[in-house]
Amino acid sequence: MVPALAHLTRTTGSSAIDEPALLAHIEALMVGGLATAWKTRAYTSEEVNAVTGRLQALEPEDLEGRLVVAGFTERPYVAPDDVDAIEQACATCMYFERHRGWCNLAELMLPVKPEWSCILWRI
Ligand code: SF4
Repeated sequence: MVPALAHLTRTTGSSAIDEPALLAHIEALMVGGLATAWKTRAYTSEEVNAVTGRLQALEPEDLEGRLVVAGFTERPYVAPDDVDAIEQACATCMYFERHRGWCNLAELMLPVKPEWSCILWRI
């Protein structure tokens, strides 16, 4: 990761984190083509536990690792084989803190945009 941004990714406390800068950095990574594991969704408890386990195994400042493992995308995900499926976006996720623009999933704890998505989306 960019060393100068290492201090932005701490997950302990929020007051020291420059959230707008971190949000912009995350967006730049995704727009820049960061290959994340977005295709394999985590729906069952076992799948969710496997993904969160991989996230917990990462170094706290491994931002790119978190984005890759969590399958971040800069657009909502819609299941291709289910026309009735709900669009999966941070905006409709139970972990999304709307007024802050923040993901409250313990293994992520990152600024996010409403239209972004990840494989741990839950309604
Ligand atoms: S857990 Fe929910 S709020 Fe957090 S990044 Fe994934 S979809 Fe967005």
